[in-house]
Amino acid sequence: MILILFGPPGAGKGTQADLLKEKHNLLHLSTGDILREEVSNNTQLGIEAKKFMDSGELVTDDLIIGMIKNKIESTTNVNGFLFDGFPRTISQAEALDLMLIESNKEIDKVISLEVDDNVLTKRLLSRGRSDDNEITIKNRLDVYKNQTLPIKDFYKNSNKLLEIKGDSSIEEVSSEIEKLL
Ligand code: AMP
Repeated sequence: MILILFGPPGAGKGTQADLLKEKHNLLHLSTGDILREEVSNNTQLGIEAKKFMDSGELVTDDLIIGMIKNKIESTTNVNGFLFDGFPRTISQAEALDLMLIESNKEIDKVISLEVDDNVLTKRLLSRGRSDDNEITIKNRLDVYKNQTLPIKDFYKNSNKLLEIKGDSSIEEVSSEIEKLL
């Protein structure tokens, strides 16, 4: 099974990912989490990525695609993958399709969590991560609209998109996801 959790920063992707990966025995691949680990380990990748992350810009497609490819190729013994925060650009979405074709797999569903901007900003400000300050948040929401939102049509056309309201409780969102899967 291959699922993508899609939605703006603060939509609850990480929270829902934790529930989904347990239920379906999926490997959770959060590009944000992987990048933050690279940054804290001071790796070459982390050093390159940090400047983009600090300003709320996207890390370059080449870095992200290489990173995901490594993870997919080095993983065995899972039922599938749960992508969270990836893909974020049309190029990443196309690269993912190619990677999956090479290993005879395909995306099952793209779960899009829909939450209003004012709710997102409130949630992000209360989270307190270093890139969760007012200026960076605004930029991340703009980057999301300009570079990431167009992917929705990409998946809508292939009938894989599940649109779910993400502003109710964790349990309600989770049961809505399970109902539609
Ligand atoms: P997130 O935790 O998903 O909000 O990601 C935090 C930051 O990591 C983002 O603001 C980007 O700078 C970077 N990032 C995470 N995932 C991606 C991706 N798929 N493509 C490009 N940059 C990413």
